[in-house]
Formats: sequence, structure tokens, C-alpha cells
Amino acid sequence: MNRYKDKVCLVTASTQGIGFAIAKRMAEEGAFVYICSRKEKNVKEALDKLKGLKVEGYPCHIGLKEQRLALLKKIEEKHGRLDVLVCNQAASTHFGSQMDISEGSFDKMWDLNVKSIFYLIKESKELLKKGGKQSNVLVVSSVGGKGPNYTIGVYNMTKAALDNMVVWLAQELIPDDIRLNAISPGLIKTEFSGPLWKDNQGVPAKSLGESDQIASVAATMCSDDGSFVNGENYAVHGGFPKL
Ligand code: NAP
Repeated sequence: MNRYKDKVCLVTASTQGIGFAIAKRMAEEGAFVYICSRKEKNVKEALDKLKGLKVEGYPCHIGLKEQRLALLKKIEEKHGRLDVLVCNQAASTHFGSQMDISEGSFDKMWDLNVKSIFYLIKESKELLKKGGKQSNVLVVSSVGGKGPNYTIGVYNMTKAALDNMVVWLAQELIPDDIRLNAISPGLIKTEFSGPLWKDNQGVPAKSLGESDQIASVAATMCSDDGSFVNGENYAVHGGFPKL
């Protein structure tokens, strides 16, 4: 498929896991994709794996405004527009009783998982408006947003906030011809979710998905195949809607 021919995409937090798989899928379908993550070494390794595709990558802590703006400036200088923005960043910094969470841990999750996503969309809006007919924003949420679970309670609460945001912000962006949706993965085999599936914690094999199974749905939602999907949240969990 070539659904992303001539499209310019930015996928955040994308040197491994779900973000990497989405970036790879969009690039394989013809896009020019910008990837980023905090560590230069990870960016280099990811770019090596994507050799032969139209991909550029930069170290960027997407929670930090100056670094976000510097990345957007690079895109503006080279392409002058953005067709697809995938907001994939999140932190899950406290596992176990939420009564033991530190204020620092709480703030870190809210800052990265919610605030940095809202601001990244706001800061990208002018570039997205210059994108082709109908630009797209996809927020990577989680089934945990709708299925609270106390061991990762605050993390899930940040995802519930994103789910709420997607509904009203999608409406606000309609006049700018920007679609905004969320995708909510179930349990996916990545580093991030390691505490939930590593060391054989009795997780049923069929409840553990692969990043590519999220990327294929994400790529459909942000392509013209998804042109009438707006303000929605697609759960992709193989029949296991709770983490
Ligand atoms: P992952 O495999 O651990 O990858 C995380 C990526 O994010 C890495 O490339 C990491 O690279 C980058 N990163 C972390 N903090 C960053 C920051 N502040 N700025 C820029 N990049 C940053 O994670 P994942 O499982 O794919 O998770 C991706 C998204 O899916 C998250 O939003 C998560 O909430 C969501 N999700 C995951 C699951 C699951 O089961 N895996 C389920 C539901 C939802 P650096 O270390 O170099 O920064």
C-alpha cells in the first residue's frame, strides 16, 4: 500500500516499541517520517533499522517545550508542513499501591502524558494547517483509560484525561480540517509494559499483542481510509480490554 505517498509525519517517542512500529509502517507506505526520543544512541539505532526509508530522527525530550519547538522548527524549515502527528509519549513511573506515589512521580506522568501532548498539538497546529487536505493527529492512549486498575492508577488516570481531550479538541479542530483521534492499545509486548508481562505473571498468551498490530490500525486511522473517523478512540486489544 502507498497511502502515505507525499505525506510528512512526526511520530514522537518512536525509537522502539509502538512509536517505532507506527513510524516504520507510515514510512513503508511512502511517508517522510520524523522520529525522536531522548537518547541520541537510541535515535541512531532506530535510524539504522529504518535505512532505505525516508526517515529523519533527532534526540528530543518531548516533554520539554524548547526541545519540542526546536524539532518542529526543523520540520518547518525542511517541509513547511505536517500531515500527520502521532503523540505517542508517556511515562509510567509508579507501579503498585498508589497511596505510596511521590508527588514527583505524579507530576512527571501528568506533565508528559497529558500536558506535553496538549501543547504539542497546540504548537503543531499551524504546520498541520499547512498539510495536505485533511491533516491528522493521533494520540496514543491506553485501554487503561477506561479500565481503571489501582496498580497503575495514576497512569491510567492520565490516559482517561487524554480520552476526554480527544473528544472536545477534535470538535475544535474541525474548521482547520484537522482530524484528531486516539488509539488505545491493550497489553503490547514492549519495554514499557514489562512490569505487566515479564517474569511470566500468568498473562494469557493471546492477551499480549505486538507493536505492529497497533501500527496497522494507526496507519489506517491517519490515512484517507479513515477520513470520516474523528474524535474517536479505537481500542485494539485482541479481546482483552483490561490491562
Ligand atoms: P517503549 O517500547 O518503552 O518505547 C518508549 C519510547 O519512548 C522509546 O523510544 C523512548 O526512547 C521514548 N521516550 C520515552 N520518554 C520520552 C520523552 N520524554 N521524550 C521523547 N521520547 C521518549 O513504549 P511503548 O510500550 O511502545 O509505549 C508507547 C505508548 O503506548 C505510550 O503512550 C504508552 O502509554 C502506550 N501504551 C502502551 C501499552 C503497552 O502495553 N506497551 C499499552 C497501552 C498503551 P528514549 O528512552 O530514548 O527516550
